[in-house]
Amino acid sequence: MLTVQRIAQKSAGRRLRQQALQLGSWRGLATASEPYDVVVIGGGPGGYVAAIKAAQLGLKTACVEKRGSLGGTCLNVGCIPSKAMLNNSHLYHQAQHDFKRRGIDVSGVSLNLETMLGAKDTAVAGLTKGIEFLFKQNKVDYIKGAASFTSPTSISVDLLDGGKTEVQTKNFVIATGSEVTPFPGGAIEIDEKQIVSSTGALELQKVPEKLVVIGGGIIGLEMGSVWSRLGSEVTVVEFLGGIGGAGIDEEVAKGFQRLLTKQGIKFKLNTKVLSAEKKDGKVFLKAEAAKGGKEETLEADVVLVAIGRRPYVQGLNLEAVGVELDNKGRIVIDDQFNTSVKNIKCIGDVTFGPMLAHKAEEEGIAAVEFLKSGHGHVNYNAIPSVVYTHPEVAWVGKTEQELKAAGVQYNIGKFNFSANSRAKTNMDADGFVKILAEKETDRIVGVHIIGPNAGEMISEGVLAVEYGASSEDIARTSHAHPTLSEAFKEAAMAAHSKPIHM
Ligand SMILES: Cc1cc2nc3c(=O)[nH]c(=O)nc-3n(C[C@H](O)[C@H](O)[C@H](O)COP(=O)(O)OP(=O)(O)OC[C@H]3O[C@@H](n4cnc5c(N)ncnc54)[C@H](O)[C@@H]3O)c2cc1C
Repeated sequence: MLTVQRIAQKSAGRRLRQQALQLGSWRGLATASEPYDVVVIGGGPGGYVAAIKAAQLGLKTACVEKRGSLGGTCLNVGCIPSKAMLNNSHLYHQAQHDFKRRGIDVSGVSLNLETMLGAKDTAVAGLTKGIEFLFKQNKVDYIKGAASFTSPTSISVDLLDGGKTEVQTKNFVIATGSEVTPFPGGAIEIDEKQIVSSTGALELQKVPEKLVVIGGGIIGLEMGSVWSRLGSEVTVVEFLGGIGGAGIDEEVAKGFQRLLTKQGIKFKLNTKVLSAEKKDGKVFLKAEAAKGGKEETLEADVVLVAIGRRPYVQGLNLEAVGVELDNKGRIVIDDQFNTSVKNIKCIGDVTFGPMLAHKAEEEGIAAVEFLKSGHGHVNYNAIPSVVYTHPEVAWVGKTEQELKAAGVQYNIGKFNFSANSRAKTNMDADGFVKILAEKETDRIVGVHIIGPNAGEMISEGVLAVEYGASSEDIARTSHAHPTLSEAFKEAAMAAHSKPIHM
């Protein structure tokens, strides 16, 4: 039987536990007399990975996140929900247009958009909760609220459940990510219903008859593909002369555009959107040639504004501590992720470099390793990019245009999937693998793939670049048969001497 004293102790314990749980933590917050070693601001892929790694290195760690769920842009409104929609819209499209030629007769295939959106939400919920579990497992305190600097060693947090708390720490890692870039000059306002950002494009409750995508970068092409497969007539308007955004190899970009055009997506390149007007349930976009010229009007049911993302520092009160930004609003860091303020580091989308989840993760690990031991490393030359359309596009290292501009002599090894047995057997043989190897040393300096599963296959290219492999190294490495990755080996053979199967 419990004594009165033990009951009192138990209920006091329960109260404490409830308070701690409200803060997402069992351990209570650090105080001035016992500060954290590191507090990470932002629980996206950069921030949550940094926090887990810091705790694994024995640092007393907390992560502050104001969204109400962990995983940041990537898990909540980015990588994960977009890939759920890409995968399921691809299956729907295949069932409608591809199964028959494979001897699979299906009838009555129809779209249940509500269920498809639900499947996406289930994926997001499962993965974001998974990070909470990882925090508990690694003893990272999860503080749910918005952080604002009060000094270089303290923040005030507006708790999501109400109230404020002050958190003290020896070091900070800022990982507050990015937000959608608004249309220049406020000429087009996003309402997330008719004129949407990527976030709204993941939530459309009806398939728009006509979708105009402003911006032919990765996000625009992925979301354009989703809605095209689900039945929208999609037009992509791009200011530049090619699609795929920064860093894509020009030959790949051209091939990619041809394949997407074959799938029914229309492109208006070298075209500048000027303004939008909502009328009678439609959106009318005014556009003209990028270099100036006659105006034209494009009609849409929904417009997706996908012109990029910008660093997010709102509410951090950086002025109070003097953290410097550059003229693009990025937090300035040195090669050890230090900001202009001693003991405040910064990683991910909010600072320099490509806005990619895996780049943020690498930086998260390196930043806390610097904190702990003074050593850390990210090889920015070996950060892959992937467009998860079908076929996928993936690349790592230098493009041909970059090598030419730098005056580097190189060999090209190219192998078409139409000569790869597995791709042919799968009746999915569009695209190629292209390997660029330095002429003098045979070292692989760039890999560019357009084709089925390019996003998985690029990891072999990343390893090659990371380890300084030569094309001969890859050409002499056994690749299982029949696999798509044999196209990678054959491209390496082509760069080194000659391929066998083409
Ligand atoms: C539609 C879409 C698809 C994408 N697909 C891919 C993909 O396939 N692969 C890929 O690599 N990348 C993809 N990205 C990019 C990827 O999501 C980002 O590069 C990545 O999320 C950046 O991670 P981060 O940790 O730097 O920032 P974020 O993920 O943006 O996380 C920052 C977090 O900080 C929190 N925060 C901000 N200020 C405060 C504050 N003051 N206090 C507390 N918390 C705060 C925010 O709420 C947010 O959750 C995609 C993005 C979009 C929009």
